[in-house]
Amino acid sequence: MTGQTNVKTQTKAVLIKNPVAVMSGLRGDAARLGPVDIRIRDGVIREIAPNLDARDDERVIDASACVVYPGWVNTHHHLFQNLLKAVPSGINADLQEWLAAVPYPRLARFTPELARVAARLGMAELLLSGVTTCADHHYLYHAQGTTETGDILFDEAASFGLRFVLCRGGALQAAGDHPGFSKLALKPESLDQMLSDIERLKARYHDAHAASMRRVVVAPTTPTFSLPPALLPEIARAARGMGLRMHTHLSETRRYVDFCRERFDRLPVEFVADHEWLGPDVWFAHLVHLEASEIAMLAETGSGCSHCPVSNARLGSGIAPAPQMAAAGVPMSLAVDGVASNESGSMTSEAHFAWLVHRAAQGASATTVEETIHWGSAGGAGVLGLDAVGTLEVGKAADLALYDIDDPRFYGFHDLAVAPVTAGEPARVRYNIVNGRVVVDDGVIPGLDLDALRHQAVDGVKLLLAD
Ligand SMILES: [Zn+2]
Repeated sequence: MTGQTNVKTQTKAVLIKNPVAVMSGLRGDAARLGPVDIRIRDGVIREIAPNLDARDDERVIDASACVVYPGWVNTHHHLFQNLLKAVPSGINADLQEWLAAVPYPRLARFTPELARVAARLGMAELLLSGVTTCADHHYLYHAQGTTETGDILFDEAASFGLRFVLCRGGALQAAGDHPGFSKLALKPESLDQMLSDIERLKARYHDAHAASMRRVVVAPTTPTFSLPPALLPEIARAARGMGLRMHTHLSETRRYVDFCRERFDRLPVEFVADHEWLGPDVWFAHLVHLEASEIAMLAETGSGCSHCPVSNARLGSGIAPAPQMAAAGVPMSLAVDGVASNESGSMTSEAHFAWLVHRAAQGASATTVEETIHWGSAGGAGVLGLDAVGTLEVGKAADLALYDIDDPRFYGFHDLAVAPVTAGEPARVRYNIVNGRVVVDDGVIPGLDLDALRHQAVDGVKLLLAD
């Protein structure tokens, strides 16, 4: 189980010709660009207009059977979980039982080789579902463990051509309050260990540019369990001193909220506010159980949300008040969460479910297709601070997904622009372009050895299932 992913991607001037429809990622009337051509050069969208003529050095992509979307921006993932899908002891569990049964007992068993295979599986699925940017909340860290897995993630992302944000997680206390974690014999990192690795990662990988391909984020796993509260402001100051954004899990379950009230006599958003963890440089995964006052605090401070509706449903955690957050002005994004609590890393599937679930729960005015696409593209780029990413506009980074709609299930559509989100999967991504590079070409990832990856995955699952 060794060897690098040998993915071959292209950097070229590209002209996308004759698409059936183009969605921009913007809101309202600006969401639809119609059947326009798109010219890409040096990683940037240069022209969007009808009937553009090809130039000699351009590769022309015939998009006459495709609808074009802004590349999805997945703002909360746990790539290591790609070798932990549908673990039987966790398949019908709630979050608490699932944590104790699925990821925690196996944290120490993720060798760098297994972490690399899991990342490959996850990144392949992300690209094939039209994701162009992924923020991975990576928490395989403990005092005696290696920090190499963070480097492996950047290495694999570069190989696949994926725009990548490493949210460097981990815990600073044994989390004895948390069943599951309390059973682990792992010694948590010290604050110095965590911060010195973040400084190392920042120096080696972090690029603050608005169209950066690599970012580092400070992301202790949860603010309530993973560290003593007194360290939260210290970490926030360290992050802001380094110019890094901050991310963590918050208010995923009712139990999480109850714990925070009982232990700290505060609602979770109040608790993080007390500890300098709100602001436009902070975003939280889940936010399922919120009071109106908390939504107002998030909106006032510009603190963002990774909305993970499939994982929340899968674990029975609830339905986040995403329409209410969006209406209040909370920066919203979409995310698949780890695939051990989703069984899919597809943003097409996530967007389909996000569009449906709020309408089911709150009525037909709760969400629109256009708003859902906005959360999953421009919204995601916003919470990550990637200001040149997320929309199909001239001057923005060339991150695009081309869905093939030449399939019987899409025949009969009056509005094919919305087909991938309204019909859900299967919706095949025929081309995926990241920063101007064609990373999925005619439905395949060039150079990726799928047979080798399949064998590596089978071997990895065996290793992780063994007692
Ligand atoms: Zn998560």
